[in-house]
Amino acid sequence: MFQKILIANRGEIALRVLRAAKELGIKTVVVHSTADADAMHVRLADESVCIGPPPSRDSYLNIHQIVAACEITGADAVHPGYGFLSENARFADILAAHNITFIGPSGDHIRIMGDKIEAKRTAKRLGIPVVPGSDGAVSSEDDAKRIAGSIGYPVIVKATAGGGGRGMKVARTEDDLIEAWQTAQTEAGAAFGNPSVYIEKYLEKPRHIEIQVFGDGAGKGIHLGERDCSLQRRHQKVWEEANSPALNIEQRMRIGQICSDAVAELGYSGAGTVEFLYEDGEFYFIEMNTRLQVEHPVTEAITGLDLVHEQIRVASGGGLSVRQDDIKFQGHAIECRINAEDPRTFVPSPGTITHFHTPGGLGIRVDSGVYSGYRIPPYYDSLIGKLIVHGRNRVECMMRLRRALDEFVVDGIKTTLPLFRDLVGNSDIANGDYDIHWLEHYLASSD
Ligand code: ADP
Repeated sequence: MFQKILIANRGEIALRVLRAAKELGIKTVVVHSTADADAMHVRLADESVCIGPPPSRDSYLNIHQIVAACEITGADAVHPGYGFLSENARFADILAAHNITFIGPSGDHIRIMGDKIEAKRTAKRLGIPVVPGSDGAVSSEDDAKRIAGSIGYPVIVKATAGGGGRGMKVARTEDDLIEAWQTAQTEAGAAFGNPSVYIEKYLEKPRHIEIQVFGDGAGKGIHLGERDCSLQRRHQKVWEEANSPALNIEQRMRIGQICSDAVAELGYSGAGTVEFLYEDGEFYFIEMNTRLQVEHPVTEAITGLDLVHEQIRVASGGGLSVRQDDIKFQGHAIECRINAEDPRTFVPSPGTITHFHTPGGLGIRVDSGVYSGYRIPPYYDSLIGKLIVHGRNRVECMMRLRRALDEFVVDGIKTTLPLFRDLVGNSDIANGDYDIHWLEHYLASSD
């Protein structure tokens, strides 16, 4: 087992990892920017190292500073959290070259899945169902037209190096296509430094369903069921639940088995998420995330498994603590992402939190790095906390969620809590009847 883990992240996820390491008796080091000197993870860690000024590229993305912090403190492993360097293959390679363990998969596996075309090819080879589309990057207008014509409109043009929902454009006709193809390339070039794009069938009313997988790096793989993350705004997840209201146990186990067989065959190590769009009973692979996800707590709630413990065990060579047969899905869980944003315009609302009161009681979990008197810096993601609620079934979970939202108080800044108070009273949400466009339509119609 590791002696000391360095956490290369901030906010709620830094605290989440710190808690897991403490439980396992492992010392913790956190790195932080000058803007985060007062952050909760800095206060609670055994050691902290300031690695630079506020902009992420000078601090949380500064590989050299982070490696230097490992060497100064004697950390033998790094947990990257999500975002920042968590899917940076070069970071994983550099750590390996310094004999420091990256708590995550190998650089090669990150590289394959980080390139969406390569990821889709690999998924197809491993027997995972994929969205019909171009075999690779589409580099000429004529190819774009020919491929879109053969798939059938509508189509979506997506960046090969995409992430965070950027660089995607839908085309409903051949006239739309050329514009979509050009804009997607420009956006992709600006956002990712790589203008390469590909084309897929655009699914009109899918759900977003993702499978949590784990590999032990030695040919064993398991799945922990699915999460339904269909409630999205601008392709960003807002509300996540497990199990999906749309799947039954047979469907869950069938797609889960396909994914766990795939990670086993890949020799994949650690946590991963295989993301699908789901429509009319069919799954279509869109991408695999090679890290812990923001929404992992809903899976923890229904399986009772600590995913960060599991990541640390696997990375230290201790293997998985469970086999597929040990995993039981119990009850229902929902996560609400609470952002420091205006609940209607979604404009970020940094500033000082004058009062912070979190709900409690059976089945309630709040993962957050903020506290009363904390000043939210304007430089980073606006996620300030996650409310995760578990019940014996979906109805109980929703009742408990409504009560927990009533109790939650965040004063001094604007948050998205009022949005969730609206959603929890909505009949479509109560019935689990929504697709990936539902939230955008709802927001547009309630303006
Ligand atoms: P990113 O890596 O940028 O998040 P994804 O490929 O995961 O990109 O897609 C993000 C979201 O975009 C999906 O959850 C879905 O809402 C939408 N999307 C992506 N591909 C398609 C498609 N083929 N049809 C319809 N919607 C899509």
